[in-house]
Amino acid sequence: MEFAEAQKEALECTRCGLCQSRSRVVFGEGPLNARLFIVGEAPGYNEDASGRPFQGASGMLLEKLLGTVGLSREEVYLTTLVKCRPPGMPPRSPRPSEVSSCRRYLISQLVAVDPKVVVALGELPSRILTGRKESLRRIRGRAIPLDRRYVIPTFSLQRALYVPADRSLLVSDFSRLPELLESERPTTYETLNVPSPASEREPLQPGLW
Ligand code: SF4
Repeated sequence: MEFAEAQKEALECTRCGLCQSRSRVVFGEGPLNARLFIVGEAPGYNEDASGRPFQGASGMLLEKLLGTVGLSREEVYLTTLVKCRPPGMPPRSPRPSEVSSCRRYLISQLVAVDPKVVVALGELPSRILTGRKESLRRIRGRAIPLDRRYVIPTFSLQRALYVPADRSLLVSDFSRLPELLESERPTTYETLNVPSPASEREPLQPGLW
């Protein structure tokens, strides 16, 4: 699906039950030629209220992290696995069926931006974007070559806000970005994976991501 079509469709989307808990769809934002693409889990309260990703304390932490490697928020494409806020306070994690329903939008964003580096923030984005089954603690900070880009799994901003030791590790993981952004794209045919419900399970086209 073309990016513009995906954005238009998402803003009125009712493909999963999260349409009932949202106030606004948070599609994502950033330049379509960004080299860096950051994926969180789902919009939270502040994002739902504003319609923009990574707001409030999380947004401030992200901007600080980007600043430590000489990047500004405006240079990066920012989005989440699902575009609507899950219910609950704090919100629950998105369900696999919800991630699957929303993946068409994430795919169209990745295809349009074609970033060199993807940072997956948190357990669920890391698992889904890398297809790895290991715990996040085991794989965090690795630059995993997938479909001609590097995917870096790391902690969520929310976790880093409350656990100082993990905040230090998040800073360390971000410190790898300048080198990776300057390096050549990795050569690999391994393809990023997003799970579907068993009834819909089908391989993604090679190179789709
Ligand atoms: S989370 Fe995604 S699939 Fe579900 S209603 Fe929102 S935009 Fe549609």
